[in-house]
Amino acid sequence: MFKWDTLIINANLATMADGSRTYGMLTDGAVGILNGRIEWLGTTTGIKNSIETLAKEVVDAQGCLVTPGLIDCHTHLVFAGNRADEFEQRLNGVAYEEIARKGGGILSTVRATREASFEELYQQSLPRFLALVSEGVTTVEIKSGYGLDLATELKMLHVAKKLGEEHNIQIKLTLLAAHAVPPEYKDNADGYVDVVCSEIIPKIAELKMADCVDAFCEGIGFSYDQTKRVFDAAVRWGLPVKLHADQLSDLNGAALVAEYAGLSADHVEYTSIKSANAMQESGTVAVLLPYAFYILKETKLPPIDAFRKRQIPMAISTDCNPGTAPSSSLLTTMNKACVEFSLTPEEVLKGVTINAAMALGIEDDVGSIEFGKKANLVLWNIKHPADLCYWQGMNRVQRIFIG
Ligand SMILES: [Zn+2]
Repeated sequence: MFKWDTLIINANLATMADGSRTYGMLTDGAVGILNGRIEWLGTTTGIKNSIETLAKEVVDAQGCLVTPGLIDCHTHLVFAGNRADEFEQRLNGVAYEEIARKGGGILSTVRATREASFEELYQQSLPRFLALVSEGVTTVEIKSGYGLDLATELKMLHVAKKLGEEHNIQIKLTLLAAHAVPPEYKDNADGYVDVVCSEIIPKIAELKMADCVDAFCEGIGFSYDQTKRVFDAAVRWGLPVKLHADQLSDLNGAALVAEYAGLSADHVEYTSIKSANAMQESGTVAVLLPYAFYILKETKLPPIDAFRKRQIPMAISTDCNPGTAPSSSLLTTMNKACVEFSLTPEEVLKGVTINAAMALGIEDDVGSIEFGKKANLVLWNIKHPADLCYWQGMNRVQRIFIG
């Protein structure tokens, strides 16, 4: 009779749990896993019994790094079509406005996503999803937002759900119907917000096809007041909120999401100190998206020192999307967070583990290596966590444990 199903020994355990040690590091660490949960944590030398008798399977990490499974807390990875041609046109000097006028930009993705069958959408999204998973991502948040009508938003969310079910990966579904104004509501954004609030949110909530509601609050998206209406509808239907906030200008988006005790304010490049104070009070996470910052060649940095001073948790995510973040590599994004935003490798690893879990409201269950949490772990072919941010173009995942 074994005590555990799996016992990992001789690991450099970055638990991300104990704030008194960098990375919560436990060298010579050992983890006992039973029924998919972390049942025991300690040191290998502290184990008195003969190790083979303790677990069905003993995994010798040989001094390599073990981290919590990574969490990508902000993605738009379900979409159809491809915008590489627009990328090329822009580099050949065609202005974005002209591309948009000819039906390019986000609306070209909306068109392709509406036209795609469920199976086509699934097959096109699958490689992006698998690329993330291959880098040790065990929880993925996936947003809708390229349908902009009930049927297509629902189709996107069903595809996202199926990706998780087929690959035993935890998915958090976010309804982002207020991503852009659909062509049939051109010049009538308020009319579309009516549909979002009175038709789309209620139906999706009723079907339990979203864990959260998001919106794009920006000059080229939805106004502060329109976003507020979307949030009111979300609250009526019992759904928490998060927001694409203050990415290109300061519309007090982060303060608005804080007012609704929202899970996260995402992008936050232009977030003011006043809004940061509100985030601190409401416990709202700042989700930083350095890959979009890099692609857009932005120069305005998020107020990272203000977040640090106020101990506002910072999460890092790919923002995987066809326009401003054509990437499904969280490891690359982690490097960008260090280089573009000058975050430390420890802040970055927190940003893709425990703080990303907080941004999704699941920090009691995943995001760190602690007693009772789900045993989502990654064994890497490296010794030190800084290597995850440092070297690019190599995937050092050795083994992924999911529950
Ligand atoms: Zn986004």
